Amino acid sequence: MIENDIASNSLAHAYLLAGPSGIGKFSIAKMLVNILQCPNNLCNECSVCKQIQAGSHPDTMVIKEDGESIKIEQIREIIGRLQMTKQGEYKILLIKGAEKLTPEAANCLLKTLEEPPQDTIIIMTTSNIREILPTIISRVRLIKFSAYAQNFLKEALRPLYPEAEEETLDQVCSLSMGKSGKAINLLEDSALLASYRTMYNMLCEFLEDKPLYTKFKLIEDIIADEKNTEEFIDVFTHLVRNRLHKGIEDQSLQAEKKDYYMNLLSSLEETRGLLRRNVNARLALESLALKAS
Ligand SMILES: [Zn+2]
Repeated sequence: MIENDIASNSLAHAYLLAGPSGIGKFSIAKMLVNILQCPNNLCNECSVCKQIQAGSHPDTMVIKEDGESIKIEQIREIIGRLQMTKQGEYKILLIKGAEKLTPEAANCLLKTLEEPPQDTIIIMTTSNIREILPTIISRVRLIKFSAYAQNFLKEALRPLYPEAEEETLDQVCSLSMGKSGKAINLLEDSALLASYRTMYNMLCEFLEDKPLYTKFKLIEDIIADEKNTEEFIDVFTHLVRNRLHKGIEDQSLQAEKKDYYMNLLSSLEETRGLLRRNVNARLALESLALKAS
């Protein structure tokens, strides 16, 4: 869609790239910025490309959510900069995590979306479109991203990572739940992959008939680092899916166990939703542990 918009000279003044986290939305957004600003359509070598990379390009502004909300003061300051004269062809504002805009900030941005200054393009990404004001959505060109089928992702990654072993590729595609950005992170960051593998082994124990306090202790360790909760849910889902597939394939799975895994998968999805809505992580995970017992 974006390539078509560029080729047919029909770029929208604002885009919203929406889809699960770790799928590559922000990478695509940055690529679009470079294509538009670089005199050679993204060469990675000219001074413009280098300035964008360093975050010092005068016509390119970036706001990234850092766990906190994006406040009206930040939007006001940026909008002021959008009005200034530009050196290149476009003024571009990139907002990562647009769901973090406070209602005041979103309304402030709305005015600019309604009457954008000439040659200004606003590109936003979000992993939670339900939290974006409908009035914002109605004023942007929406591009939805979704996860790939694991086989498709594996075929796409193989030529890019010829040294990766089959088993690693399988594991990475499954662990990333078909999210291309996440899969690439796992392939390129061996420490991250190792931590996912450790989590996998811990969860194998979790599924065994251990007393509940052992499971709660594991949860205690996991929530000590907030980043781990998403990893925990991803790896757990991967593990349960694997057991389910394998058991159905070689017909070793009893009906009772099959129901257990199916229920666990829906509990995992439910927990993922709760965590996304900022429900207390300990409560959400402990209730999951009870269901997994
Ligand atoms: Zn360039």
